[in-house]
Amino acid sequence: MSSVTAPTGLLIGGEWQQTQKRIQVMDPATFTVLAEIGDAEVADGLDAVAAAHDAFQTWSVTPARQRAEILRRAFEIMSAELETCARIISLENGKAWRDALGEATYAAEFFRWFSEEASRIEGGFRYAPNRDKTIITDHRPIGVAYMITPWNFPAAMATRKLAPALAAGCTAVLKPAGETPLTALWIGDVLQRAGAPAGVVNIITTSQTGPVSSAILADPRVATLSFTGSTYVGKMLLKQTADRVLPSSMELGGNAPFIAFEGADVDAAVSGAMIAKMRNGGAACTAANRFYIHESLAEEFTTKLESAFAALTIGPGIDPANDLGAMVSVKERDKILELLQEAVGEGVVATPSSTVPELGAFISPYVVRDVIHGSALTRNEVFGPVAPIVTFTDEDEGVRMANDTEYGLISYVFAKDPGTGVKLARRMESGMVAVNRGLASDPAAPFGGMKESGLGREGGFAGIHEFLETQYFAVDL
Ligand code: NAP
Repeated sequence: MSSVTAPTGLLIGGEWQQTQKRIQVMDPATFTVLAEIGDAEVADGLDAVAAAHDAFQTWSVTPARQRAEILRRAFEIMSAELETCARIISLENGKAWRDALGEATYAAEFFRWFSEEASRIEGGFRYAPNRDKTIITDHRPIGVAYMITPWNFPAAMATRKLAPALAAGCTAVLKPAGETPLTALWIGDVLQRAGAPAGVVNIITTSQTGPVSSAILADPRVATLSFTGSTYVGKMLLKQTADRVLPSSMELGGNAPFIAFEGADVDAAVSGAMIAKMRNGGAACTAANRFYIHESLAEEFTTKLESAFAALTIGPGIDPANDLGAMVSVKERDKILELLQEAVGEGVVATPSSTVPELGAFISPYVVRDVIHGSALTRNEVFGPVAPIVTFTDEDEGVRMANDTEYGLISYVFAKDPGTGVKLARRMESGMVAVNRGLASDPAAPFGGMKESGLGREGGFAGIHEFLETQYFAVDL
């Protein structure tokens, strides 16, 4: 068993609890077992809710300054131990070392940002227009938050929820993805070391995700659900939360268009494409999924992208020499290969850019030329290193194809200058648009989608409001 320095129990009420049944966590690059962790039953999930509910009584009235200082300490601990965090991320997720280190840094920043936001929660005061009363508004912590996170960013998706929740005065029960629980358990340990009181953060890992989650969502002590994952599971959970009219924040799937318009700088577009597509090996909700390239740029862009893909080194992510690590599992790798097969069945040629190691859930990158808008590779979230290229001639046609999806998380626009880029960006039906660059995410920016990509925003000034309830007092003064 390879060694990782993460706790392996359930974190409930400040104690690490072991369970009789265990779950194995695998390294997808070597198929070795990294650790055996706790397997929560429904009763453990409800114990975690009870612990969070008890802790809420004091945490919600703990001065914001004190909450901020704990989050700040969490930021400092994490920043001092970035390599430990990156090692766990890379080993359990498979991603390249550079991506893992980048994620650890990004994840720590949520603790810093929300440590700063904790003491800036605003209230309001104004007169009613007819002056018969004053309107005083307050924001109070909503209560116990249930959080479910995906495997593709096991650290950042956890801190992007935990940091604002704790800053707001909420307590948490976090359930990380089955493939990547160790990073979340390590973050739980960081928060304990930073001084989070017992029960403020509880973490459960389980092989019975459906029943455990349903029981937690049905518990009246739970006040909100914060979910990041696929649109399919998000919709299923929204049906459950409807029964209790439970506020729900949903960060769901994407199918991001990358459009290079006439006049765009091809080299800048290729560099942007490498980041937008290849960060995390393409397993990002924000990954550029479909490339619409103006006919005047298409040949040069495609040839240069093919060369950049072919130059990538592929192998275990833990080795810093590799640009592209393993996919998280064979199942996820095979989903991508099946989509490529479907595309080939539709008539395109899909040639791998490189060979891959025999052992491990590796996949070669692919640039796929002459793809038709509406085909399999443009309709589905590919979630891997595949770049389908569609050529367009007319600006309106490019915009129409980009928006022709039920998703609306992010778009990438490359134009001849920033002014033109912003004009085109306003036509994109997505919650975020990167203009002439391949990366948009920032802890200080509102992250979230339109259409079926989600409800609500995380990060920025908006993120803390997912964990606050507005209360209004009508007062005669
Ligand atoms: P997923 O299959 O939806 O799983 C996400 C989480 O939901 C996991 O923790 C999973 O637990 C849990 N889950 C599955 N079935 C459940 C159920 N019946 N009840 C309660 N929870 C359940 O997604 P994924 O494959 O891990 O992640 C990839 C997806 O996430 C992509 O679509 C991607 O675009 C999206 N994503 C979105 C964002 C964003 O911010 N918008 C960020 C990252 C990823 P188990 O692992 O235990 O099954």
